[in-house]
Amino acid sequence: MTLRIFNTLGMRKEEFKPLREGEVRIYACGPTVYDFIHIGNARAFIVADVVRRYLEYKGFKVTLVSNITDIDDKIIRRAQETGLSIQEIGEIYSDAYFEDLAALNIKKPSINPRATQHISDIIMAVQKLIEKGYAYEVEGDVYFDILKFDDYGKLSGNKMEALEAGARIEVNPKKKNPADFALWKACKEGELGWHSPWGWGRPGWHIECSTMAMKYLGETFDIHMGGKDLIFPHHENEIAQAEALTGKPLARYWIHNEWLTVNGQKMSKSLGNFITVKDALKMYSPQVLRFFLISAHYRSPVDFNKESMVAAKANVERIFSALERLISLKERDKNGEEDEELISQVQEAKRKFEEAMDDDFNTPLAIAAIFEIVKAINIYVDRNDEIGTEAKKEVYNVFKTLVEDILGIKIEIKKKYLEGREEAILKNLMEIILEVRQEMRRRKEWKISDEIRDKLQKIGFIIEDTPKETRWRLKEETH
Ligand SMILES: [Zn+2]
Repeated sequence: MTLRIFNTLGMRKEEFKPLREGEVRIYACGPTVYDFIHIGNARAFIVADVVRRYLEYKGFKVTLVSNITDIDDKIIRRAQETGLSIQEIGEIYSDAYFEDLAALNIKKPSINPRATQHISDIIMAVQKLIEKGYAYEVEGDVYFDILKFDDYGKLSGNKMEALEAGARIEVNPKKKNPADFALWKACKEGELGWHSPWGWGRPGWHIECSTMAMKYLGETFDIHMGGKDLIFPHHENEIAQAEALTGKPLARYWIHNEWLTVNGQKMSKSLGNFITVKDALKMYSPQVLRFFLISAHYRSPVDFNKESMVAAKANVERIFSALERLISLKERDKNGEEDEELISQVQEAKRKFEEAMDDDFNTPLAIAAIFEIVKAINIYVDRNDEIGTEAKKEVYNVFKTLVEDILGIKIEIKKKYLEGREEAILKNLMEIILEVRQEMRRRKEWKISDEIRDKLQKIGFIIEDTPKETRWRLKEETH
């Protein structure tokens, strides 16, 4: 089966062919660490994670690089507002970002380069662009001259004329063209900056990404990802800078995910509908949030609202409850006829799942295939109370691969069905406690031995002393 990807560059689905056999190199734009990430950011990171997981499932060795922008106007403003240093702000919110990734079961990117640790690479890139005639310096600022780069606009389709009209672009008399963008910005003494051939200053955002991407992935790599809002100007500018430097395409496939809205509105701080991942996880489990974020195709908008979250929760429960029912079945040695039928239904659903994912990572269709497995399991369990050991293992493994390994929804079911380990631990613990209590009784320390018994009874154990031994059991739960 071949994977097809919708490429923003060219706006069509294309067969995916990696540059190096068996290997995929991906760059996904990471966070600017000035605040907690919100659920819209989380969508982009989860899309990248699912793409990575699926490519790994298909046998590719994946290198995913995702940057951390730790120097930026927003971070500087935040530092001024809070009285903390720029470094402290960066540390606080990059730690929080990694916490959120872990909470959402997003695999840590292979490399997380930080802009401030790549200043000399960035300065070198800017200098080369000046030497090649693509950039110019004015009073300590360096701008990219977009008129020099013929392909400008090839990703976003933004025509030069429209850019020149400059409706959305601030007027800056230093620039030759209003759409020229900063590669290096002069800053005042005392502000966070670095020495450069153009004086004290700091890098522009776009040059950070393309420099770090090429440093770790090579001049041309396979996939560049990010939210739709990054197509212009960020990714358009990355292409201009990188391709002006190397004369080679920066990335072969450009993947962009659509917006996330909250109750039909664009998320924004001024509307007060800004939902951080941390806040969302106070209301919903990571599995439910993650399921919700992949339940729409990545190129479709998705709306966070009460109904969609109730639906996501119910769906996750349906998936886990089918799995619990499967696991609770008694096992028998041989597969029966119905077992074989169940296996073939599950294999067929797995094929559909792969077909959906191969078609531009169509997660809603892939999830529909998972519900075919859920249905097959439920019908089976309604009719049977045992299952062949092999069949159980096979169905469970397919389920785990698709739901947990590829979609990243961590399976969470009552452990007692999975293994008797907790039960064994409990038995051993009780043995130790009762031995100690027996020793107390031998020493006629009645007060302590009674106290141990009472405390155990309080938390749900029934302790019975017989002349021969002390027995224990758990009180039946009444609810
Ligand atoms: Zn970027």
